[in-house]
Amino acid sequence: MAGITLRNVTKTYGKGKQALQVIHGVNAEIADHEFVVIVGPSGCGKSTLLRMVAGLEEITGGEIDIGGRVVNDLEPAERDIAMVFQNYALYPHMSVFQNMAYGLKIKKVPEAEIKARVDKAAAILELGQLLERKPRQLSGGQRQRVAMGRAIVRQPQVFLFDEPLSNLDAKLRAQTRIEIQKLHRELGITSLFVTHDQVEAMTLAERMIVMNAGRMEQFGTPEEVYHRP
Ligand code: ADP
Ligand code: ADP
Repeated sequence: MAGITLRNVTKTYGKGKQALQVIHGVNAEIADHEFVVIVGPSGCGKSTLLRMVAGLEEITGGEIDIGGRVVNDLEPAERDIAMVFQNYALYPHMSVFQNMAYGLKIKKVPEAEIKARVDKAAAILELGQLLERKPRQLSGGQRQRVAMGRAIVRQPQVFLFDEPLSNLDAKLRAQTRIEIQKLHRELGITSLFVTHDQVEAMTLAERMIVMNAGRMEQFGTPEEVYHRP
């Protein structure tokens, strides 16, 4: 069970006269295994909402619950999430294998377990032949798959994607989108994906949360959202 529940979530930046409320009472229930896209114009609060789920931003009011557990007071490392950013940085001096294994090594996961997890992720992402290469010996698409591999090996209950495609050219964006869909079919990890791009949202979303000026305006399948009279 790893759904995500948002209960009357609010966010205010700053205090006193400087206070600016940027999220107004968002309620949403994301089911286990579901792929939900948060879409809306720049500045509407998408990234703030995602960062509150990640634990990178404090929650001002309300409650966020991951897998049946209130996470308001939990550190990012305690939340069982992995986040994929638009600017993924691989360690240039490490091989593909070492890049994917690094987070697990720090957590002192046993070597055999690390190898098994990296091999499995590499198979899914078609990186099996590239494990000994350095990042500079990879194409842009391969590098991005390594960045996703690093997230997968953590075996999170939840994936959080913060505009991971927005810095890519059109061809690589389309490729990576297909890669993410494949990943979701194979692993079924509950996912929250933020984008300002409506086409991207429609293609990827099982359901979408449409944000505007800090409020959730709609929550439904792409058909429900776009064919509403
Ligand atoms: P989006 O991701 O939809 O572009 P954001 O969540 O980044 O929107 O921002 C929502 C609002 O909160 C914007 O008005 C933005 O200027 C403001 N904001 C974001 N981060 C901060 C911050 N650290 N301090 C103050 N205001 C912020
Ligand atoms: P550890 O996983 O042992 O905490 P890392 O160096 O992997 O060590 O991560 C340091 C911090 O950054 C931790 O709080 C971790 O949860 C967080 N972190 C690292 N990678 C990710 C990721 N892909 N998604 C979300 N959080 C991450």
